[in-house]
Amino acid sequence: MSPDGRRPLVGGNWKMHMLRGEAEEYCRSFVTGLGDVAAEVALFPSHPLLPAVAGALAGSPVGCGGQDIHPEEKGAHTGDVSGPQLVDAGCSWVLCGHSERRQDHGESDELVGQKADAAIRHGLAPLICIGETLEERQANRTFEVLERQLGRALAGRPDPFAVAYEPIWAIGTGETATPEMAQEAHGFLRELLADLVGDEAAAARRILYGGSAKPGNAAELFAQPDIDGFLVGGASLDPESFIAIIRCCG
Ligand code: PEP
Repeated sequence: MSPDGRRPLVGGNWKMHMLRGEAEEYCRSFVTGLGDVAAEVALFPSHPLLPAVAGALAGSPVGCGGQDIHPEEKGAHTGDVSGPQLVDAGCSWVLCGHSERRQDHGESDELVGQKADAAIRHGLAPLICIGETLEERQANRTFEVLERQLGRALAGRPDPFAVAYEPIWAIGTGETATPEMAQEAHGFLRELLADLVGDEAAAARRILYGGSAKPGNAAELFAQPDIDGFLVGGASLDPESFIAIIRCCG
């Protein structure tokens, strides 16, 4: 727990990896190996795997979530997935605005806000992903980008949500933000949240770091006062590495 009472949160984003048999095998060894940990943990498999993963995690403290959500409840939206479908598949979380969706599918800040709204409406907790490109960082535009992305995604909403700060240049590249760089961004986001949703909600919201988090760098990142856990991509595909990262969180 942080001094403000925030329980660490660690998400495993499997992206477009794994088949059902591998996913079930992963969940068995993951749940057995995890034991008691301080952090809340959730897995984010791709949509076809959700029922199998939710089933394999049933009775364990590990939750699961979708990697995307459509703003509408149902309708003619081929290839999309709705909030009620995610809930029906056993989800309690959903990623909104992951940089790979912003890049591959042209998701705008406004659309990410609509997705977060839909999540809340259907009882899912949105994990809102934001972060700057390398060019934006080099042009000293990081804070401006974060302010725009978070402001538009939240639009003043005080409901429960979590934020993942994921500098795009660190995602899947093996290059991690230094603890100082990450804390600078997380501290900025905490202050921004206070302006957007008020001091109390800002102190309660969890801000995760994402971008090549691994067992070797997680402890010093987690030691920063405004880092409340991780969204992990590559290293979450191996249960042992993922467990090692989770154990760094208190
Ligand atoms: C991610 O996909 O959210 C992520 C942080 O990936 P990686 O850990 O592989 O950088």
